[in-house]
Parts: sequence; C-alpha cells; structure tokens
Amino acid sequence: MGNFCQKYCTCLEPCIPCLFSGKEGEREEDVGQVFANPAVVRIDSQAGEKDKVNKTKGKPLPALPGQHLMNTCKFVALFNYEARTEDDLSFQAGDKLEVLDASHEGWWYAKLLLPEGSVCPGRKLQGYIPANYIAAVQSIEAEPWFFGPIKRADAERQLLYPGNQAGAFLIRESESLKGEYSLSVFDGQSVKHYRIRRLDGEGFFLSRMKTFKTLNEFVDYYSKNSDGLCVKLGKPCPKVQIPTTFDLSYKTVDQWEIDRKSLKFLKKLGSGQFGEVWEGLWNNTTPVAIKTLKPGSMDPKDFLREAQIMKNLRHPNLIQLYAVCTLEDPIYIVTELMKYGSLIEYLQNDAGSHISLPHQIDMAAQVASGMAYLESQNYIHRDLAARNVLVGEHSVYKVADFGLARVFKVENENIYEARPETKLPVKWTAPEAIRYNKFSVKSDVWSFGILLFEIITYGKMPYAGKHAGTPGDPNAGQGIQTPSA
Ligand code: ATP
Repeated sequence: MGNFCQKYCTCLEPCIPCLFSGKEGEREEDVGQVFANPAVVRIDSQAGEKDKVNKTKGKPLPALPGQHLMNTCKFVALFNYEARTEDDLSFQAGDKLEVLDASHEGWWYAKLLLPEGSVCPGRKLQGYIPANYIAAVQSIEAEPWFFGPIKRADAERQLLYPGNQAGAFLIRESESLKGEYSLSVFDGQSVKHYRIRRLDGEGFFLSRMKTFKTLNEFVDYYSKNSDGLCVKLGKPCPKVQIPTTFDLSYKTVDQWEIDRKSLKFLKKLGSGQFGEVWEGLWNNTTPVAIKTLKPGSMDPKDFLREAQIMKNLRHPNLIQLYAVCTLEDPIYIVTELMKYGSLIEYLQNDAGSHISLPHQIDMAAQVASGMAYLESQNYIHRDLAARNVLVGEHSVYKVADFGLARVFKVENENIYEARPETKLPVKWTAPEAIRYNKFSVKSDVWSFGILLFEIITYGKMPYAGKHAGTPGDPNAGQGIQTPSA
C-alpha cells in the first residue's frame, strides 16, 4: 500500500509524507506478494500460510516508551487510567510512579508515589498499569508539548480542535527525517509547521542566529519571543487522544481466550454478513465491542491461527483485537469500541453538512496509514470498504475486520450471490481477486480506490445501477471494471 501510494497517490504526500519518505525499492520483497483467498478457493497452501505467520510474528512489536529507563527513573502519568481488574492501579495524569516490574509486555507493575506528607487511606497504591500511559520524569516524552511520532495531518487536526487559542503548539518527531523534530503552531487561523534543525554537536535551532542546548530551552525562548515564528508559543496542545491499550489487562496479553461470562452485552450496534456487533463491558469495567459470529461461519482453529496474527498488529489506525471466546459457539471477537460506528453510516448521515474536503482527505490519509502498516507486516486486508472503517472520538478513523474474509468458511461463498446489492463486496474487490482468487497488496489498493469513491461521495454505492454478479462468474468482472458513465 505504501509502495503503491508512492507511485499512484502522490496527492496524499502532504498528508502522509511517511509513505513517501522510504527509499525506492526499500521493501522490494513485499511488492507483488500474492496470497490465494480461501474464501473463494478451497486450495489452502499450508506451507505458505506458515511462512506468513512466521514472517509476521518475526517482526518486532512497537517499542514501549522508556523500557530501558525502568531501573533508573521515576515516571509520570500522561493520561488518566481507571483500574479494569483488582490487580490494576488507577491513576491521574500528572501522578508520579515508580515501576517495580517491567517484565510483562505492555503492562508494568508500579507504585504510586504520593506527594510528600499526603496520605490516602484505603487507596490502592500498587498494581498493573498500561506502559504506554507513562513516561520517564524529565524525559522529552513527559513534556506536555511533546507528541512523539504523530503525523503532520494528525498535528493539524489536534491543533484545530475548538478551544485551542492562537499560539497552541506541539513538537513531534519528523516523519521524513529520522531523529529530527518539527514544531506545529496554531496561529489563530491555520497551523504552521517548522523544521527544528539539529546542530552538528548537540543542540537545536530554527535560525542559526539563535541556538538552544535543549528543546525545553527552545520552547522557553519562543514562548517569550516570536522571533520569526508566526506567533509566540502559547499553551501546549491538550493531549485529548488517549492511546489504546494493546490488551484488556496484563493477564490477557498471552491468555486472550477469555471467559465469555466476563462479557456483558449492553446494546446491539449493528449486524453484518456473519453476525452481530454489540457494545459491551468486559469485567464490568471496560467498554468493548463484541462481534458474535453466526454458528458455523468459521472453523475456530483457522480463526485462532489468524487471530494470533491480528492480535499482534498494533497501529493507531487499526482496530485493536483484545480477546476472543472460541471454545463454544457463537465465537466472540472482542475489540476496542469506536464511538461513532462505521464510516459508511457516518458519511451518509452527514452528507456534506459538516464534513468537508480537508476532513475527507484526512479520513483517506488515516486509512492509508493503517493500510501501509498492514503492508509493512505482510498482511492483506481483503475486504477494505467504508463499512469496515470505524469512526472514533476526535476524528480518528480505524480500519477493522482485516484478515477476517480469509477465515470465513468456503460454504459462505454463496453469500456473494445471496446478498442484496448494497452488501455485495464484489464492487470493492480487484478483478484478479474475483477472477483468479489472487489477493495481494495490489488488490487492497484497488479496494482503497473504491473507498476513496465512498468518502468523496458521502457513502454512495460504487457503480450505482450496475449488477455486481458473483465471484468466479467470468461475466462478473465486466460490471465492476466498467464504471458507470
Ligand atoms: P460485513 O461484515 O458484512 O462486511 P459490516 O462490516 O457492516 O458488514 P460488522 O463488522 O458486523 O458488519 O459491523 C456491523 C456494524 O456494527 C458496523 O456497521 C458498525 O456500525 C458496528 N460496529 C462494528 N464494529 C464496531 C466497533 N468496534 N465499535 C463500534 N461499532 C462497531
């Protein structure tokens, strides 16, 4: 996807420069990789699948902040966290913590450090915490203005939230130049970006006339003098986007087959081809989405093999798989809950009243970012469409249902015929995937193109009025490949 966007979607470069910054041919081995689709073909290359699992599992997971600092530093909480289990520790942004054990990936055992002289009788002071909610005291990550490796478009979105005053700013890691930083500032109307240059030795500057040993000194100076900036730096941009935890709790990191009794079903959110989706609560504490699969829609063993890979896919624009219940029917898939549901309904409900072109470009850029990550993990979505993108708070868009199409049973093949036109995935599927059952990064890019159509038309049906046909039907491609005039 990243490679394709570099070649064919150059208009997205300002929004997702990271897709365009890699060297030509850097991921040569990924390009053109093709996997057969067992949803439409019975032949399943076990060897190929094993290779894919190993290849994906071999990739390192994203680094957690400050892991190496555990023994030397105190930590500060960046966000509030409410205990989800009795082993967890609740804390507020700004609380100080000492990490006692960092051996659980993603979940650390920590002690709350109370301000001198204060006592909190009855308050739990030790427990597990999500490691990505804290940063080492006095590290750059602990600064309220440091937003880490967020994208330029994301910086703009966050700085443009209502309530931010002129001068609101953040510093982020540059997408295109590793080790460099960028300053993004809201001038009251729009967001301006400045590259913070590095001195040969140690230090930072915007103009060589004025150099700084640290970023703190840099921020301090430009908070008092605009000195060439569009505006003096004011308040740091609030960090309203709370990161997703990668698991429900430290116990479900490895044991993510959970007891179905730990789930409470609250409200039905919708239904798709293979089952229903419910808003629910895990352990009476944690909001989740629960997908219930129609009995027999997939083989639990196939699903678990796929879920093992899905569980390790972690990206801010991918729905996080938390846990599964596969020991009896119906299978449940437990994921993060997205407040505003599917992108297709979101677009259709708005129909242009609030969502304008910059928002639409941002949606496309966020989806492309999640899909580029999937490509980097050698993973193919197979069913990318606006119905499979979910909308969260603060205009966050995440790709859902990746890989599921691969494990639905072949018996469901006739679903392609049986569904009314509005649900036919054929219109999103690349011709070679329909005709020759070849799914690849390229066929995902085809689907991304159809998704762009959905975004720009506020959720209109692609090729309206065309009969989609059925996969495997040699005539089916015609209706798809020939867009209506
Ligand atoms: P299909 O599965 O047939 O491709 P679909 O993707 O619309 O169609 P589901 O994935 O079953 O079907 O989802 C049904 C609806 O449930 C979605 O349209 C969305 O509104 C809602 N939904 C699904 N997952 C979530 C989630 N994680 N958070 C919030 N709402 C969700």
